[in-house]
Amino acid sequence: MIWSDELTSYDLSVVQPGHPMRGERCKMGSDAVAEIEGVDILPPRYAFKEELAFFHKMDYIEAVERGEAGDVDTPIAKALFDPARLSVGATLRAVEAVLKDGYKIAVNICGGWHHAFEDRARGFCVFNDVAIGARYAQKLGAKRIFIIDWDEHHGDGTQRAFYEDDDVFTLSIHQHPATQYPYVSGYEDENHATNLNIPIIPGRSETEIIREVIPTLSLKIRPFKPDLIIVQMGVDGHKEDPMSSIDLGDRFYEEISKVVARCAKNLGVGVVLLGGGGFNFPKTAELWKMIVKTFMEKM
Ligand SMILES: [Zn+2]
Repeated sequence: MIWSDELTSYDLSVVQPGHPMRGERCKMGSDAVAEIEGVDILPPRYAFKEELAFFHKMDYIEAVERGEAGDVDTPIAKALFDPARLSVGATLRAVEAVLKDGYKIAVNICGGWHHAFEDRARGFCVFNDVAIGARYAQKLGAKRIFIIDWDEHHGDGTQRAFYEDDDVFTLSIHQHPATQYPYVSGYEDENHATNLNIPIIPGRSETEIIREVIPTLSLKIRPFKPDLIIVQMGVDGHKEDPMSSIDLGDRFYEEISKVVARCAKNLGVGVVLLGGGGFNFPKTAELWKMIVKTFMEKM
């Protein structure tokens, strides 16, 4: 796991008091993951502006540096630039841990910022470390990347980053966007050979969702033959999360972790796990720990 307490400075409540994206959520998550036997803790590094530019426009990066960008959900101040690029650097370090240092699994709890666009902060996300991480992995030689995003919300920034790129598969499972942020994307009619949205309509049972979703994953992951799998492991779809209107329980996250881990093992590729959403802090920490443990046991 990539962690240092400096990552708790990615905290939007510093700019907007009461904001749910607070440093303590990642601290609780990393404390929980650190309890798993056999987990090494590696320090993060800062992402350079040139690395942020793997996805973002330099004008936008420099606006964040001046504290000028931001939207209604994502307040930005000058003081957030370094924390935001540290959280991206933690993802880059996780990619290095798998592709250079030989770890099978690497985790950045303080990552998974899938809503950020190339020129805009959106949905609590300043820089899109999922997209930047995938581009970085390609530069390190992992040509084909499979990104699976099971956060409650559609991975819209990530889909946008790779929509025209056949070497990166983007798969997002999320609450149906007719009833959930980002509302304007995440529908099935956006699907093509390397982009798959699986929107979940509220009211369906966890068992039904597991039966429908889980078998699809190996059917998509295996034939794509990725060199690396990146998971945005947001748990804000859990029924105990204040953001959720779908009825996911612990079992969904366990089953999906098992199947993705098995695919990675069979393909002989590593996995980078990125935190994403989760706003019932103690439950989020418990679920992230269970997910990481499941990957470690199955790979
Ligand atoms: Zn989310």
